[in-house]
Amino acid sequence: MVELDTLFAKEIVEHGLREFPNEACGLIAGTDGSAVKVFTMRNMDESAMSYRLDPTEQLRVTKEIEEAGSELWGIYHTHTHTEAYPSETDRDRARWVQPFYPDVYYLVVSLSDRDSPVVRAFRITDGEVDEEELTIR
Ligand SMILES: [Zn+2]
Repeated sequence: MVELDTLFAKEIVEHGLREFPNEACGLIAGTDGSAVKVFTMRNMDESAMSYRLDPTEQLRVTKEIEEAGSELWGIYHTHTHTEAYPSETDRDRARWVQPFYPDVYYLVVSLSDRDSPVVRAFRITDGEVDEEELTIR
């Protein structure tokens, strides 16, 4: 089971609503397996269909996370028109992340109904998706 503080979930959803209709993305730092901080990031694709982190920003944030004694806990992004499930592109791109962060959670937020956003958590290993039960509280 994956737990996420309500405040972090709210921060992520609000970021997604700000960037709508484009996808929003960001990183989540964790300590001892629990999420401790959300970093809203720029979507370099500026697209409603995909997201891509800015490598320079990513380097700066991952350095900050490491210097704080935390680890990269999660990568989130929004789907503005589809369900909260990793797309084929998401699964492909996860292959590049896997060697560096094999245990990272992927949080996907669906804003297809902006009045009731849906957040789901996954692990993606070798392109295979495993959903993790997510508790927001
Ligand atoms: Zn996606």
